[in-house]
Amino acid sequence: MSYRAETETPSHSGVLRRYGDRLPIGLETPLISLGEGDTPLVRSRRIEGRVGCRELYFKLEMCNPTGSFKDRGMVVAVAKALESDAKAVLCASTGNTSASAAAYAARCGLDAYVLVPHGNIAQGKLAQAVAHGARILDVRGNFDDSLRLARRISEQHPVALVNSVNPHRLEGQKTAAFEIVDAIGDAPDLLFIPVGNAGNISAYWRGFVEYYRAELATKKPRMMGWQAEGAAPIVTGKPVENPQSVASAIRIGNPASWLLAEAARDESGGEINAVSDYEILEAYRLLAQEEGIFCEPASAACVAGLLKYARHSAGATGGRLFADSSVVCVITGHGLKDPETALGIESEMQEVEPRIEAIEEAMGLAR
Ligand SMILES: *Cc1c(COP(=O)(O)O)cnc(C)c1O
Repeated sequence: MSYRAETETPSHSGVLRRYGDRLPIGLETPLISLGEGDTPLVRSRRIEGRVGCRELYFKLEMCNPTGSFKDRGMVVAVAKALESDAKAVLCASTGNTSASAAAYAARCGLDAYVLVPHGNIAQGKLAQAVAHGARILDVRGNFDDSLRLARRISEQHPVALVNSVNPHRLEGQKTAAFEIVDAIGDAPDLLFIPVGNAGNISAYWRGFVEYYRAELATKKPRMMGWQAEGAAPIVTGKPVENPQSVASAIRIGNPASWLLAEAARDESGGEINAVSDYEILEAYRLLAQEEGIFCEPASAACVAGLLKYARHSAGATGGRLFADSSVVCVITGHGLKDPETALGIESEMQEVEPRIEAIEEAMGLAR
């Protein structure tokens, strides 16, 4: 198969062409793309006032081709797999990695294999992997078991492992940090981001540091990472045997990029803390109803974190500093992937007769 660099994506050029000079690619790397990256950075309308910072933006990574930021790293990992003549890709996944791997593999004529921890995948994500023709193996264990097995298989067979332990994934994901700086002209003061396997927080930090060193930014943000209370190994300092959370994308007990994430936290003067499922669902509802942004629960974790952080810093000496801060929340994935959670919140559907009077009455309109 040949890859025609100019015609593959006439509108969105993709991560490989846009940031190729900062990625580990060469003349032999095919410039594949599904139009990933170049996602919107939108200003908050209501939550900004609630938390009281100077400016708040949402980086809408849900607008990537498969509905999550995973596409940024996957496009690099799959391009490198093609370059090294792999015939198949393999990943362990609670969903978005498999959706992304399946899409890019389908586009490039590779087989895709997905190890899914039993009972741990949202319906929308499973639908994506199925639609793209991936071979899905339901592993009777948790995510950490699935990843361990995927690593072993890739060591012993000519199959490219495309989990975030694949270094090309983080390289691709760092481009989101570049885009934020390119869009607002400098790095924000604070970056709020959900933390699961901890690859993304590490990748953003790498991107911000790289732009700072290249003098494309005058500062680096404090990295504010958020785990779910029932899956908060970095907060408690020890792996979680049985991670639990409504936010399946961050339901991870032993993060692959644990040390990198701690380094990002410490070098940036940031924090990694936990939010409860209740706080996550409250932020999820606020985003949808006050900002018009329908994300998945894992993404809402960082907004829950922002609301919590703002409450705590309000009285303390950090309050003034925070009021002067520019903040970006990374909205990692789309709400449509996990409709069960949305419907579970308030399924207030009302039955009406097919008559205009009945509709008017239900809408509270006088006649
Ligand atoms: C993968 C994912 C995360 C967690 O990112 P890590 O790199 O594993 O920390 C958060 N939200 C969504 C929607 C994801 O798909």
